[in-house]
Amino acid sequence: MNNGILIWAEVTRESYVHPVTFELASKAKELSEKKNNIPVTALVCLTDEPSEDFKEAFCINGFDKVFYLKSDKFKTYKSDLFAKAVIGAVQSICPEIMLIGATCQGRDLAPRISTALHTGLTADCTALDINEEGKLAATRPTFGGQLMATILSKNTPQMATVRPKVFKFSADSERKNTEFIRLDVNEDTLISNIEVVDFKKKFSSSLNEIDSAEIIVAGGRGMQSKEGFELLKQLAVKLGGVVGASRLAVEMGLADASCQVGQTGKSVCPKLYIACGISGALQHTVGIDKDTKIIAINSDKNAEIFKVANYGIVGDAFEIIPQLIEDL
Ligand SMILES: Cc1cc2nc3c(=O)[nH]c(=O)nc-3n(C[C@H](O)[C@H](O)[C@H](O)COP(=O)(O)OP(=O)(O)OC[C@H]3O[C@@H](n4cnc5c(N)ncnc54)[C@H](O)[C@@H]3O)c2cc1C
Repeated sequence: MNNGILIWAEVTRESYVHPVTFELASKAKELSEKKNNIPVTALVCLTDEPSEDFKEAFCINGFDKVFYLKSDKFKTYKSDLFAKAVIGAVQSICPEIMLIGATCQGRDLAPRISTALHTGLTADCTALDINEEGKLAATRPTFGGQLMATILSKNTPQMATVRPKVFKFSADSERKNTEFIRLDVNEDTLISNIEVVDFKKKFSSSLNEIDSAEIIVAGGRGMQSKEGFELLKQLAVKLGGVVGASRLAVEMGLADASCQVGQTGKSVCPKLYIACGISGALQHTVGIDKDTKIIAINSDKNAEIFKVANYGIVGDAFEIIPQLIEDL
C-alpha cells in the first residue's frame, strides 16, 4: 500500500515542531491535489503521548494522518537510534513520497533512510512538482549552480530534502480531522553507540539572524573590508534589519558563515534585500525568495544582480551607503 506523502516532523530540542514541517505540508497539499488527493501524513518521534496543542498544530495544517513513535529514548537526537526507528516506521507506512526539512537533523537522517531503503534522495531542492506520469519532480541547482536539474527517482519512497523558508507556509482555512496513529516501536532495538555529553549554543547576535529577518542588508566582495561591513551594519540598524553576505565575503572573513545567503548558505525571504557589492551569481540569488523586493548597489552597470533587482543604483557603495544612512 502506498501511503501518500509523508513528512518527517522534527521536534526540536526546545520541544516544538520545526516550522519547516508546516512549510512542507503546504507544498505537499499542492502535490497531493495533482495526485488525486493522496493523503498528506507526518511521522514524528515523541517521548510522551501527543498533547492537545501538538495535535492542533497538525489539524490546522491539513495533515490527514500523523504516525508517531513513543519512547523515552527520543529525548535527545542520536543519529543511529533515530535512523533505526524511522526506517522501521517508513517501511510500515510505505509512503510514495517522503519530504524532509534540510535542517541539521534532517540532513543527517535523510541519507540514512534513503540508503537503507535503496532509494534516491534529492537534497536541497528549490522546487517540487508532480510530472505528467505522476512522479515527484524534484528540482535543485547543479554543476556549481550553473544549471537547474529536475530529478526523478526510480524507486519509492521518492525522497527529497528542502531547506527551511524555501516554501511558504500557508495555514488551511478549514481544520482537518487528523488521525493520530501510534506505531509500535521495539525498545530493545533502540540502542545507540552515541553518548551526548553536552550542547553548546553558538553565539549569534541579532545582527546575523537572517532566517527570520524582514530586511537584510547584504554585502559581497565589493564591500572589500571589515569597515565596509561596518557600514552595512549601520544601515541595517537604521532600517531595523540584519546583515547578510555572499560566500566570497564570508571566505574573505568579512562576515560569519551564518550570514551567508545562497545555495550553500541560507534561503531567506525578507520583504527587502539590499545587495551591496554583490555581483548576483545564481548560487547567491537562488537563496533569495522570489517575492522579495531587491535593491542592488553595484559599481558595474552590467552586473548580473541588476537582472533580478527591482531597483538598481549604479555607483560606489562607499559613497551611496553613507548617504543613505544620513538620509534615514
Ligand atoms: C557550488 C557552489 C556553491 C556556491 N554557493 C554560494 C552561496 O551559497 N552564496 C554565494 O553568495 N555564493 C556562492 N557561490 C559563489 C558564487 O558563484 C559567486 O562566486 C559569489 O556569490 C560571488 O560573490 P560576490 O558577489 O560577493 O563577489 P564578486 O562576484 O566578486 O562581485 C563583487 C561585486 O562587487 C562590485 N563592486 C566592487 N566594488 C564596488 C563598490 N565600491 N561599490 C559597489 N559595488 C562594487 C563588483 O562590480 C562586483 O559585481 C557558490 C559557488 C559554487 C561553485
